[in-house]
Amino acid sequence: MTLIDAGAPGNGSSSRSAACFRQQFGTPSTVRGLVYAGRYYKNWQDEVGGATSPLVESGYLFLKDWSANFRALSDLVTMQQKAGLDNVKLYCVHDIEQHFHYVQTVGLKGATWCPTDGFLIHDLVYKDAIDNLRKRGARIILHNGVKDATSHEDGQITSLILEDNTTIDVDFVVNATNAWASKLSEMLGGIPLPIVARKRYLYHVKVNGTPGDFMNFPMVITPTGAYIRPTPDRGLMMGWIHHTEGQKTTPGFHQQDDIETGFDHHQHRSYGYAVRTEIERWIPDVEKLERLHAATSGFYADTPDHNPIIDFDPQVKNLLHAAGFSGHGLMHAPFSARIVLELVQARRRLNEITLPQRIGTVDISTYHVDRKFTSAEGMVI
Ligand SMILES: Cc1cc2nc3c(=O)[nH]c(=O)nc-3n(C[C@H](O)[C@H](O)[C@H](O)COP(=O)(O)OP(=O)(O)OC[C@H]3O[C@@H](n4cnc5c(N)ncnc54)[C@H](O)[C@@H]3O)c2cc1C
Repeated sequence: MTLIDAGAPGNGSSSRSAACFRQQFGTPSTVRGLVYAGRYYKNWQDEVGGATSPLVESGYLFLKDWSANFRALSDLVTMQQKAGLDNVKLYCVHDIEQHFHYVQTVGLKGATWCPTDGFLIHDLVYKDAIDNLRKRGARIILHNGVKDATSHEDGQITSLILEDNTTIDVDFVVNATNAWASKLSEMLGGIPLPIVARKRYLYHVKVNGTPGDFMNFPMVITPTGAYIRPTPDRGLMMGWIHHTEGQKTTPGFHQQDDIETGFDHHQHRSYGYAVRTEIERWIPDVEKLERLHAATSGFYADTPDHNPIIDFDPQVKNLLHAAGFSGHGLMHAPFSARIVLELVQARRRLNEITLPQRIGTVDISTYHVDRKFTSAEGMVI
């Protein structure tokens, strides 16, 4: 096996990610897939190696206001429990007050809570994985991207040509370049993928000596989708979905960290200020903290339904795409890798796979490249 990257590990979105991890998803298959991912991350040292698991199980609390349909929420939680997420719960306002005293509950109807959700230490994920590959004898080529390919008459790729003109003979190619996947697909003779790059921003504040329970916060998501979680360096990270559907960005490696006008953390009217204000509405203690000290950014690689494409290219038989992960590529990674493994072994498109440890069968036709894109994943974080 050969791993080829145009940059260093973390050159793309993975090092710029909020890296939150949840199993609370909207379909049984995705819940099972993320239960699998959670177990994999917990057993990281056995599965991959490394000094410690990258998963911090600090929990995910989705706050729901008066507009939420409580019956639909109850059905959602029941579905998630049946799919194997045993410890997800539906909380009423009294439960929220009891367990999360810092949450302001006026206007809330309830919450969903899962203590084994949390966040990932993102650099451990890719650094440990690359070390493991090296140990297993894989060839690692960094700072040398793929720029072209040679193909057989039937369209199958026979070799990849790198930026320095090195040629690598291949029998199978996995395109895992996320925001750059459509461009790479076309370079390799594949189809243009329905993936667009969208800028997303994160805001950071230091806790320092401010008294409060900040470092014990779970990931809290407000009813309008703003979110906050602690970071290992005694800080808090915040974000909020903003709608950029009409926006089309050509993702450049060097544009990933550009903070566009209006999205900085300094000005009173900036987006960072709006994110913080929305969080303070539900967690008033955040007002006590210092000013935001940084804004960071990166590209979401978005498909029309916010679910990835993990499927063979319709034109090039030995090209498999695993890209378009929107805001959940890190949490999805062990599940995605499992799907890729099964597809590479089968060498044909599959509609479902069976996950080990009796997790069950999952529908993977939702990741087919030619699906209808009708039912979107509701939360993009
Ligand atoms: C602000 C932000 C917040 C996020 N929050 C979360 C979250 O809370 N939870 C979560 O799970 N996910 C989150 N995500 C999404 C997550 O970070 C991504 O889905 C995930 O990191 C994608 O990983 P990847 O390895 O597929 O792609 P990337 O990490 O983007 O890697 C793509 C790689 O492809 C390489 N490449 C590109 N072109 C070529 C070429 N021609 N040849 C060779 N190599 C090439 C690049 O150098 C890069 O290293 C967030 C993303 C952002 C930007």
